[in-house]
Amino acid sequence: LGQNISTALNKIKSATLVDKKLIKEVIKDIQKALIQSDVNVKLVLKMSKDIEKKAIEENPPKGLSKKEHIVQIVYNELVQMIGTEPQKLDLDPSKKSIILLVGIQGSGKTTSSAKLARLIQKRGLKPALIAADVYRPAAYKQLQQLSEKINVPLYGDETRTKTPIEIAKDGLNKLKKADVFIIDTAGRHKEESGLLTEMKELKDELNPKEIILVIDGTLGQQAKNQAKAFKDAVEDIGSILVTKLDGSAKGGGALSAVAEINAPIKFIGTGEGVDDLETFDPKKFISRLLGMGDLDSLLEKTDDIVEDANEEDIEAILKGKFTLVELYSQLETISKMGPMKQILSMIPGMGASMPKEAASLTEQKLKRYKILMDSMTEEEKENPELIKTSRMQRIARGAGAKQEEIKELLKYYQTTKNAFSNLKRGKMLKMGGQMGK
Ligand code: GDP
Ligand code: MG
Repeated sequence: LGQNISTALNKIKSATLVDKKLIKEVIKDIQKALIQSDVNVKLVLKMSKDIEKKAIEENPPKGLSKKEHIVQIVYNELVQMIGTEPQKLDLDPSKKSIILLVGIQGSGKTTSSAKLARLIQKRGLKPALIAADVYRPAAYKQLQQLSEKINVPLYGDETRTKTPIEIAKDGLNKLKKADVFIIDTAGRHKEESGLLTEMKELKDELNPKEIILVIDGTLGQQAKNQAKAFKDAVEDIGSILVTKLDGSAKGGGALSAVAEINAPIKFIGTGEGVDDLETFDPKKFISRLLGMGDLDSLLEKTDDIVEDANEEDIEAILKGKFTLVELYSQLETISKMGPMKQILSMIPGMGASMPKEAASLTEQKLKRYKILMDSMTEEEKENPELIKTSRMQRIARGAGAKQEEIKELLKYYQTTKNAFSNLKRGKMLKMGGQMGK
């Protein structure tokens, strides 16, 4: 599978001309990989349309090959769905909070309850476990063993005479010293509707700080339906915990769950032990989905590019005198950030007024402009308005260029200057927060 994608991308690497057909081919391979990783088919199709469009229309930012650029597009597309930053479980240490784990039988709720307790314990808080699965006979024992292992107090009813709500309430009363209560629930009932009703009642009675949906990472398309069923029942699922990602499963099913209920994945389970819980790392997850080990280094590379040319550079453009010298050095900076079109389209109100020439500025052109400018005097560079026909002829001769090229450069300078002074007049100054991303 991993090879699949690498082979596809190598096609691009070795091709001298990256045409639409090739891009389509590569996207097909990426689709295959995602579907094999259990990502929902509809989701994949929707994504690949966007990916194809961007791959065809956008030029790679300086420093990235076309191949890397396509990977970056795919990555960005996936990131849009699951977010770039790991999301934390927010707990206010000054308050008591309740965390309710819900999910189908076998998804890993009981194990994950203990893992979470362990993690919270490591954060310096005092967790307690409450066993509220009265359906499965051995549920209490299982959690009891785990709780002893990690030294976390437990409340439950081994005789299974109380209702889950009674157990939870009694537990909250009895375990007064704790500040985070983790409630393990049933995953099966005589009927599914019974289970879902029970979860809703628990939620209404306990008003938990966060409801965590536990999903088996080896699930494929069912993940979506499970997520939907629980979401419909309890309404506000705060986050998702995906288990069993220590095996060969890629967890693509969980993506469909995320898309379905719009809740972030916060944790992943990576084993049966109480310490086998990790906070969710979107980058890692995506590399795994794509079967690419080298995504990290690529992303580091793109991060560097963005750092090189940050918002300050654009602000510098908007300030001060705008001569050919500035034009050149600033365009050089901008060209590091990616195609002009992309940059300018991030600036509110800029899309429409952008000079056509700016959009098609290529690296090659930039080099050409440099040569032309080298045969200008300082005075001409500082005051391009001085360059009339006679001077143009002289500059062209000096640079071994045609007069038309000088005209083009000056026209480019003028339209850019106009565009920037429009901006200065206050159309913007509030940058889009997504520079270079
Ligand atoms: P529950 O029915 O939802 O409470 O699920 P359990 O916590 O009882 O887990 C079901 C099975 O999955 C058990 O055998 C667990 O050891 C196993 N399990 C849970 N989480 C993980 C995980 O992250 N990795 C692996 N390999 N197994 C897990
Ligand atoms: Mg259980």
